[in-house]
Amino acid sequence: MGMQENKIQLVSMPFAESSIPSIQLALLESYLKDRNVSVTSKHLYLNAAEIYGLNNYNFLINSPNDSYIAQLAFSKYLFPDHWEKNLKKIRYYYDNIILSDINFKDNLPFEKYLEKTDQFLKYAVHPFNWQKADIIGFTLNYGQLLPSLVVSKKIKEKFPDKKIVFGGSTTINELGKRILNTFDWIDFIVSGEGEESLFLLATDNENLETIPGLIYRNDNEIVFNKNKQNIDINNLPYPDFQSYLQELSIVSDEVQQYYSLFGRIPIELSRGCWWNKCTFCNISSYNKKYREKTVDRFVEELNYLSKTYKNLTFQVIGNTLPQRDYKKLCEKIISLGKDFNLYIETRAGQLKSDDYTLLKKAGFNTIQTGIEAFSSSYLKKMNKGVRVIDNIAALKYSKENEICNNYNLIINYPNEDSIDFQETLQNIEFIKDYLDPPQISKFVVGIDSPIYKNLEKFNIERLENKIIDTLMYPPEILDKDFFFFSQFKRKKEIKENKWKNLVSDWKNHLINRQVNAVKRKTDIEKHIFYYIDGQTYLKIYDNRRNNVMIYVLNENERDIIFACENVISYSQLKEKLSNISDSELKNTLKIFVEAGIVFKEDEFYLSLPLDYNKISGKYNKKEPEKEIKRVISHFT
Ligand code: SF4
Repeated sequence: MGMQENKIQLVSMPFAESSIPSIQLALLESYLKDRNVSVTSKHLYLNAAEIYGLNNYNFLINSPNDSYIAQLAFSKYLFPDHWEKNLKKIRYYYDNIILSDINFKDNLPFEKYLEKTDQFLKYAVHPFNWQKADIIGFTLNYGQLLPSLVVSKKIKEKFPDKKIVFGGSTTINELGKRILNTFDWIDFIVSGEGEESLFLLATDNENLETIPGLIYRNDNEIVFNKNKQNIDINNLPYPDFQSYLQELSIVSDEVQQYYSLFGRIPIELSRGCWWNKCTFCNISSYNKKYREKTVDRFVEELNYLSKTYKNLTFQVIGNTLPQRDYKKLCEKIISLGKDFNLYIETRAGQLKSDDYTLLKKAGFNTIQTGIEAFSSSYLKKMNKGVRVIDNIAALKYSKENEICNNYNLIINYPNEDSIDFQETLQNIEFIKDYLDPPQISKFVVGIDSPIYKNLEKFNIERLENKIIDTLMYPPEILDKDFFFFSQFKRKKEIKENKWKNLVSDWKNHLINRQVNAVKRKTDIEKHIFYYIDGQTYLKIYDNRRNNVMIYVLNENERDIIFACENVISYSQLKEKLSNISDSELKNTLKIFVEAGIVFKEDEFYLSLPLDYNKISGKYNKKEPEKEIKRVISHFT
């Protein structure tokens, strides 16, 4: 043990989402408390939400804006000359890009945005926030760097003895070294997992060279102790959210009420990703090894947190469901008998139709499937490891089980071709009338992603700073190159594809259909494309073209539709439906594919209409086994 124990103050700055406590602070705080380190946490983004006004704050951080853009005003304090020199451009960007929503032109004009930032800063740098701490640790996620730099600089000016530490995904490896090299008031950066490193910094600060992941100065040199730790997340203490709730209890009623309505508790399920191959993703740069909690540990923690914090809404932190034990996970959550409302990220291709029913029963009401594209050539460029047919299946199952799927469509890939767009147009023709549309995510190059490491292969001539970075940072700082995301200049320019129109048409189209459904209150308007089962025949109602088609299928045709409930290959179909001749099977599939009832990709098939029993809520969601058996019994 070291010579001197230090008090730690952890802090999370704007522009984090106000209705969720920081998982990083909660995990670090409980880990350090468990080892008797004196530690407190501050969620200054709650105060920012109060000061800007909740609506304004949410406007700044939500689409079409985001928490990165929201930082813009903090540049004024760190780089005043640059700010003055570029004020016209900055103002233009604010008025025309950030304020593109006409309703906010009056709510948050530029002057008010600056005034509120000023007000927040005065509050944030007040000595009562910092005077008791020896070490002040800023956790940095997307959109927190500039406010953290500004506040930490002011703290250092006032309290030169206090040690400033930065950590989080945006200070990883080389980025951390460059940030430390650029901003001399930062004392340390923790690269990678911070639990043990912060503990050692608080208790053994005379042996910096032994602290894993620490980046520090030694004379004029920047030293980086590689972080080879891979903490066993099963052994971590439960996260501690008391600080967040205490701070919440003294901010405005508006922010408190927002938490009461939409607040969710983060719960960690895994670190890293077991797939880890997508060409746009840089998860392996900050979480090299995939680790997941055991089902027992996760569910015990979920039960404990829901009891302690009287909240049933949880955001599961992890990039995918567990690789193998996801069914067991759902079953154990169901066995708790609580009405959970859970959010999780998933992968297409992993889950079958009945898995979604199980997910819904466990309380996974909202998921984000890593869909990214509806073009097989685009998916291959991304190395997603899933096909278009898997993506469509994921959306169909979500719809059938009333699971809201907040998925993205990535656009602007550097080696995008018109074929990617054309394929997307063709494929979504089958689904855009009844399955939910995506959010658009414009591609930027993430540091250390496979694309970043192989620019040329992906048609990139060079990386460039994002426009918002050129507004926030002066050229000499941009040269230090500590940015998590960059824009790019293509080697070979491409013809622009109208992705935004594609998505807005899809959205508008569905909204119109929903309005009709409310007006007319008929199943065909509401569900648009579904089947009902007569045991010896099957009826399919298809209102996708606003011209209702009703198909009445015979017994063999019915069997084929049921067999294609999940993605299935032709050879598997033949095996499963041995009573149907090869030619009948081929012909029927051909007709189904032409009618858009079955989707085909290579030799794989998926039936497209929704199961009326599921969408109409006929089957009790608490007893999905019944419907699973119904489908299975048909083939046994
Ligand atoms: S995008 Fe998702 S699935 Fe792909 S490597 Fe990253 S975390 Fe894994």
